[in-house]
Amino acid sequence: MKWRIAVLGGDGIGPEVIEASLPVLRATAERFGHEFTADVQDVGFAAYERSGHPLPEETLAACRGADAVLLGAVGDPRSDGLPVELRPEAALLSLRKEMGCYANLRPVRLLPALASASPLRPEIVAGTDLVIVRELAGGLYYSEPRGPVEDGQGAVDTMKYHQDEVARIARMAFETARGRRKSVLSVDKANVLHSSRLWRRVVDEIAEEYPDVECSHMLVDRAAMELVLNPSSFDVMLTPNLFGDVLSDEAAAVIGSIGLLASASIGSGGGIFEPVHGSAPDIAGTGTANPLAIILSAALLLRHVYSLNVEATAIESAVEQVLEDGLRTRDLVQDGEAAVGTEEMGRAVAAMISNVEASADA
Ligand code: NAD
Repeated sequence: MKWRIAVLGGDGIGPEVIEASLPVLRATAERFGHEFTADVQDVGFAAYERSGHPLPEETLAACRGADAVLLGAVGDPRSDGLPVELRPEAALLSLRKEMGCYANLRPVRLLPALASASPLRPEIVAGTDLVIVRELAGGLYYSEPRGPVEDGQGAVDTMKYHQDEVARIARMAFETARGRRKSVLSVDKANVLHSSRLWRRVVDEIAEEYPDVECSHMLVDRAAMELVLNPSSFDVMLTPNLFGDVLSDEAAAVIGSIGLLASASIGSGGGIFEPVHGSAPDIAGTGTANPLAIILSAALLLRHVYSLNVEATAIESAVEQVLEDGLRTRDLVQDGEAAVGTEEMGRAVAAMISNVEASADA
């Protein structure tokens, strides 16, 4: 099979983790007899500096022409004074919209070798294995009106959902649950927000199409608390855009580091596969970033875009094995342990690809 992937490093640690992930994709293609071509483009502040726009036309064309996009991260403090539409984050939101991505799937699983990296007690975090299904194309991040009002003395954002937007993301969550433990917990703020009351009603309607899947609801503030008190109780968490963004950083901390959390932004096209973390300007350029989130995002890409379960599982197993062998980037080390750099971690996972068992089950 031919893999044509648009590769966007972006800003900060984005290009560093992307660079570390490419040997893993090459090793996987080589072992399983695929052809891999990467169309490398820039996005975010890096693109703005070069071309005057954070999402240049050639980047967009490369993404449209590829089977899928692998994206590092965007965001740079130097963009703070720029008009909103020229900021790196605007590029990401436009790209998701352009690529028809309305669902963001974020698997959160405690890797056995990292049980002690969680800030939670081992008996609480044990068995954590959930997926956040976050609505990605609507809600507070897109709805109008938005922007300054009252001559700049006020500002407004709008949280609006149409029932069709809720229905399609709810179906995605129920379908995801069917492949797992068949339980969907929908998160909202229905005691206060009108959009959440609509959300809850539509989720209940869609639930009737899935009688084999259990459906329940929880207010977002309670969900934030339960995520640290009882993380193993969740299977699929269905969330509006804002709530999923916030809860997934919390979930990342629960399993040890935000440097571990991968995501798949999918919908009508091939999709954008990106880590949950940002550009981490505080560690950019130090060569210490954890590349496992982007490497695991590449595994999600192979599974979702090409239905290559065995190849995706080989990457996930290789990640688990290097962690079992004791390799740790700086975000994962505990007292006295030595850390490896971004590049070395990528090389280790790539080298492990040829040693892991080829099977569709992790
Ligand atoms: P962040 O995720 O970049 O960093 C939060 C903390 O986690 C930092 O201490 C950072 O050093 C650490 N961290 C993040 N990724 C890591 C990794 N792979 N390995 C080790 N440590 C890691 O969040 P932030 O600091 O709030 O935001 C920084 C910039 O990133 C902002 O401009 C923000 O808008 C942007 N951002 C982009 C995305 C994206 O591109 N999808 C997502 C979130 C934030």
